[in-house]
Amino acid sequence: MPEMVTEATPEAVERAAALLRGGGVVAFPTETVYGLGADALNAVAVARVFEIKGRPTFDPLIVHVVDEAMLARVASRVSERARRAMERFWPGPLTLILPKGDAVPELVTAGLPTVAVRMPAHPVARDLIARAATPLAAPSANPFGYVSPTRAEHVEQTLAQRVDCILDAGPSSHGLESTIVVLDPHPTVLRYGALPVEELEAEFGPFARDLFEGPTPLSPGRLPRHYSPRTPLRVIEPRLVPPGARAASAALCFTQPDGSAVEGYACVRVLSESGDLREAAARLFETLHELDALELTRIDAQPVPDRDLGRAILDRLRRASAR
Ligand code: AMP
Ligand code: MG
Repeated sequence: MPEMVTEATPEAVERAAALLRGGGVVAFPTETVYGLGADALNAVAVARVFEIKGRPTFDPLIVHVVDEAMLARVASRVSERARRAMERFWPGPLTLILPKGDAVPELVTAGLPTVAVRMPAHPVARDLIARAATPLAAPSANPFGYVSPTRAEHVEQTLAQRVDCILDAGPSSHGLESTIVVLDPHPTVLRYGALPVEELEAEFGPFARDLFEGPTPLSPGRLPRHYSPRTPLRVIEPRLVPPGARAASAALCFTQPDGSAVEGYACVRVLSESGDLREAAARLFETLHELDALELTRIDAQPVPDRDLGRAILDRLRRASAR
């Protein structure tokens, strides 16, 4: 039996690409989080991704491409605005919802007439897709609803026996999923993510929000409860928690707290001592994995500022805390 986690050397990437061409499922690094990829044009391979994750089939997948030719195979039309967004933000952590091409199986898009497409920037992801010579449908490489993986070890701990290969290229640099938007007819954010909406608004003007607040969300996968550690989590200022209620809990702080503010917690983790949102985003899932392993009774997560990447961090914390 080959090693499950493999350093992403060119040879290993070539072997993984061959597995993908044969309908296999490969966990691979991207700049957002680790993805669980299959040939997006092979419905049987894609079905395995849903099965491995335990992901409901009403939740469509993001298709990853590396060039114009691949884009043309999955999207039937690219609007003027979408074209501008690609020029400005691709490759990178931005997913665009586009009209679906006929070659994309309905399973990938959960029957929607549109397809979510992203061009990743991570060199291993790009090399893998190029060598597989097919677009990859890839959700995050974690069991459905659990904390997303930002390291190969996180994938190994939860899915190792079920995937064909795990490519390891160290921690994901953003550590948060892509930002998902629809640009036509009106620019709308569907999911906050690693590209701050402020950067998109500087290019396109104000965006509407459709962040699963209505009854029929445009993006069916944005469930209220998601990204959740097994340990119950709530979003609260740790310093406001009575000292008597801290003993078996962890404080997950955004910046370095005053010692007295977190006194009595069994464990204190700080996402960014200097209060840098980018650093906090990159460490969020990793820290949640770490805290979850301690099997404490609760995680008290301090809210972060509601701007830039803070929006995406808060979104993940709120969903992680939903019951
Ligand atoms: P994940 O793969 O877990 O990062 O999630 C992908 C997200 O993209 C899910 O929340 C989906 O609901 C969303 N998504 C994928 N395809 C579409 C689509 N065609 N229209 C709207 N949202 C989509
Ligand atoms: Mg996910």
